[in-house]
Amino acid sequence: MHIVVCIKQVPDTTQVQIDPVTNTLVREGIPFIVNPYDTHALEEALRLKDHFGCQVAAISMGPPNAEATLKKALALGVDQAILLSDRVFGGADTLATSNVLAAAIRKLHAEVDQVGLVLCGKQTIDGDTAQVGPGIASRLEYQQLTLVDKIVSLDLSGNMIRVSRKLEGRHEIVEAPLPAMLTVVRELNRPRYPKVPMRLAAVEASVEVWNNQVLKLDEQRIGLKGSPTWVSRIFSPERVQGEILGDGYADPAGTAEMLIEKLLAKDMLPI
Ligand SMILES: Cc1cc2nc3c(=O)[nH]c(=O)nc-3n(C[C@H](O)[C@H](O)[C@H](O)COP(=O)(O)OP(=O)(O)OC[C@H]3O[C@@H](n4cnc5c(N)ncnc54)[C@H](O)[C@@H]3O)c2cc1C
Repeated sequence: MHIVVCIKQVPDTTQVQIDPVTNTLVREGIPFIVNPYDTHALEEALRLKDHFGCQVAAISMGPPNAEATLKKALALGVDQAILLSDRVFGGADTLATSNVLAAAIRKLHAEVDQVGLVLCGKQTIDGDTAQVGPGIASRLEYQQLTLVDKIVSLDLSGNMIRVSRKLEGRHEIVEAPLPAMLTVVRELNRPRYPKVPMRLAAVEASVEVWNNQVLKLDEQRIGLKGSPTWVSRIFSPERVQGEILGDGYADPAGTAEMLIEKLLAKDMLPI
């Protein structure tokens, strides 16, 4: 079985600033990293490769410099790395991004025996929408299992997967037939570090580049033209000054009383 991992190159957001004039992220001079959630997707694919002998392909859509992201995946042990890069893919919203990624996975599926699993991060740390994984699944008509924090079992002969989903305050165990798309959370695993020989081998290894001559997608469905949404403004929310109530050290009970009265007055406490 083949596994596809979707990885995105994102700016290291601890260092990102917003251009006050254009309201866009200042990307110049910012180091790029692999989207952190995607490193967990990658690790899980490699564990499945170690256990079942699956073939793993990493796919990324982005500008030519996103090749560095895929080189990191090669250094970790993926068998194939594909960069989807073309000017006509640029300016894509999540709909257009999903169209391109799904088309590439469909092409790979036709070339290999079967793409049984697609692994994505839960969300990115720049776009933050968490829409692309489900977007890919719906286009490919794969089962979609989001927020996965554990693969409980994978039965390749029975074509079934059972996962744990991390929800608020509880876990859900879900079973689905393959092929399936999983979006994963950090708790899934601890990503490995590349070993030096693999790192050196990755420098020489090649990343395949698929442009739109390869994918042959209708330009009305990709890139800027295929994106019905756009970012009209990016801003940091204004924060109102916090209020300090009483003295919690000297009079914890009285301070708690004051807090409850405040919350009741604002209708923020169920009675
Ligand atoms: C309304 C809107 C308008 C936008 N307009 C523009 C624009 O004009 N120009 C522009 O450059 N960007 C634009 N973006 C950002 C761009 O569309 C997103 O970065 C991209 O679609 C991925 O969405 P996301 O980062 O929210 O991914 P999420 O849905 O949060 O990502 C989930 C997972 O999907 C996979 N994934 C996501 N993107 C990729 C990728 N490119 N390659 C491989 N795997 C991936 C990863 O596994 C990731 O963890 C826009 C986003 C929105 C929401």
